[in-house]
Amino acid sequence: MKAITLHAGREKSAIRRHPWIFSGAIDKLLGEPQSGDSVEVYSYAGDFLGMAAYSPSSQIRARFWNFEKKMAIGQEFFSAMLDKAIENRRARGFDIKNQNNAFRLINAENDGLPGCIIDKYGPYYSIEILAAGMEVNRHLIFELIAEKTLCKGILERSDSEIRLKEGLECRKEVVYGDVPTEPISIEENGILFDIDLWNGHKTGYYLDQRDARKRVGEIAHEKTVLNCFCYTGGFGLYALRGGAEHVHQVDVSQDALKIARDLIIKNDLQTSKVTHTQADVFNYLRQCRDKRAEFDLIILDPPKFIESKDSLTKGARGYKDINLLALKLLKPGGRLVTFSCSGLMDMNLFQKIVADAAQDAKRQAQIIERFGQPADHPVCTAFPEGQYLKGLLIEVE
Ligand code: SAH
Repeated sequence: MKAITLHAGREKSAIRRHPWIFSGAIDKLLGEPQSGDSVEVYSYAGDFLGMAAYSPSSQIRARFWNFEKKMAIGQEFFSAMLDKAIENRRARGFDIKNQNNAFRLINAENDGLPGCIIDKYGPYYSIEILAAGMEVNRHLIFELIAEKTLCKGILERSDSEIRLKEGLECRKEVVYGDVPTEPISIEENGILFDIDLWNGHKTGYYLDQRDARKRVGEIAHEKTVLNCFCYTGGFGLYALRGGAEHVHQVDVSQDALKIARDLIIKNDLQTSKVTHTQADVFNYLRQCRDKRAEFDLIILDPPKFIESKDSLTKGARGYKDINLLALKLLKPGGRLVTFSCSGLMDMNLFQKIVADAAQDAKRQAQIIERFGQPADHPVCTAFPEGQYLKGLLIEVE
């Protein structure tokens, strides 16, 4: 038997069903568990707490698979977890049988499979493995996905540097069927997107902003829109379809902007109503300020500015700067849709930063809506770390 016992008092988070066990919580290892091995977890008093995967290189030394019973973590367990997710996604409007849609089928800890991200893009799946327990079981997952979804191909996109913290090397390869090297087409709320599964950000695309993009489409009618950090222009496509007067799209990536331009044509939208600029958003916003440019609607959807606790202050400064600059550029009555995908910054702190930005910009502002994660990116209530995406819709006087 392979097992872990915890220090006295360190069972509390497990009892609350938090999925992580930090290295400092562990008292003893029994049976010499190796990286990725499933272990039984016991409190100091000897009570069984659950089954977990052991990860000797990580500060998160073990991640729970379940909190109920002693069981083998293998084919049967993974099959049941995938069936559960396939069914709950279907009930939420995301059907694996649809050949054109794209959604997150497994959201790691929040779907009971720590360190496992499974995204569906049309008839293909993009899978990212981020923890030792999933690493040793990954072939089982690939086989089960192929069998249950009848997909055309699976790409393993385990190319994030977070893997190094788990002592895992980066990997990007086809693990089932064929996966085209050219972008594939998917449909999102009636809008077509080209997804580069091999080189696109994350597992190919930002599925998590689907609902927010839709909302922007609803409020963009006759507006002059500035879409900052536009990537492949998702918010801009929705704004144009919603009747925007003009959309300015800005991103630092030339490759993303090329796709953004092509998608305007592909979706039969008017190219004369869109401008694409390759620029650093911080500089671009300052130039707009110097030129006294004004907009009705500004979107700020930056990358993660806060990667670790060390970069909290610097990252917070970055959010404050772009929000301050953007708020100054809004016409009276204008709106700002602003996001943070830094998990280390919660909604309270984000709201405070935006409030400080409004104060410094000397704008009277109201929060009129809040954004979070869509239903295919659920957050387990026991795992607040799962809530990384947050956004605000601000209106200025
Ligand atoms: N809004 C997009 C996702 C944005 S992801 C969507 O709905 O799909 C963040 C984007 O910011 C990436 O495309 C990245 O290339 C870009 N980026 C990162 N730093 C930047 C900077 N300083 N200036 C401009 N773009 C930047």
